[in-house]
Amino acid sequence: MVCQRCLGTVEIEVDSQFSLGLVFDDEQAKQLPRSLEPVEMDENGILDLWEVVEDEVLLALPMFPMHSESECRIQQPEPENTTSGNEKRPNPFDVLAQLKQK
Ligand SMILES: [Zn+2]
Repeated sequence: MVCQRCLGTVEIEVDSQFSLGLVFDDEQAKQLPRSLEPVEMDENGILDLWEVVEDEVLLALPMFPMHSESECRIQQPEPENTTSGNEKRPNPFDVLAQLKQK
């Protein structure tokens, strides 16, 4: 998938479990226990398993895939570093002070 932070390729591990209840119509679907996800078969009792698995995989994928922070090309600056960096930034007036001394 595409990392939403650096737009590079990111590999996402998908681990999903689902329990399906095969039904012929909505009426049967309503009678299923809540633990089962109803999947409608066609009139011949045939189910397109690839389509079902594809839907489940799509649902299991993250909406905003991203590398882990250590693997991403774009590193988020840590808030602590930015504050201390500002404090250490040289004061432009220091240069003037040095010129005066010379
Ligand atoms: Zn990334």
